[in-house]
Amino acid sequence: MPGLYLHIPFCKQACHYCNFHFSTSLRQKGAMVDAIVRELERQKDYLQGAPLSSIYFGGGTPSLLDAGELERIFAKIYQLHTVQTEAEITLEANPDDLDLLKLQALRNTPVNRLSIGIQSFAEEDLRFMNRAHNAQEARACIENALARASTT
Ligand code: SF4
Repeated sequence: MPGLYLHIPFCKQACHYCNFHFSTSLRQKGAMVDAIVRELERQKDYLQGAPLSSIYFGGGTPSLLDAGELERIFAKIYQLHTVQTEAEITLEANPDDLDLLKLQALRNTPVNRLSIGIQSFAEEDLRFMNRAHNAQEARACIENALARASTT
């Protein structure tokens, strides 16, 4: 079964170990969402109507997308494709983006799996890697995500 991968090439800051393609300037984020929507439209016949079994937002940092940007992308996907009811829909997220408001906004999207980028719970290691989050944020985001997951 086919899946969609969407790359969101923006990050708040550059982790020292990272080789992915990204920009730390968010100025073009809206234009990138426009381009993704256009590309979805352009490639709409590529899968020849096969239902999607997965949708994966990777990066970069997809959790930098705001609710409106996610809504635009999902609206286009669901307009153009059949998505299986049990499809796995993943969003990569960094702990410093996952406050309660963000988690609540994500509950209102089709996202049903978070891939949370916690490289360490050790403050010193996080600083060494130039991660944007600290250890306390890492713990809090897991607790908040679990709490939000148990609400309807
Ligand atoms: S947040 Fe992820 S993609 Fe961005 S620089 Fe760090 S490791 Fe790379």
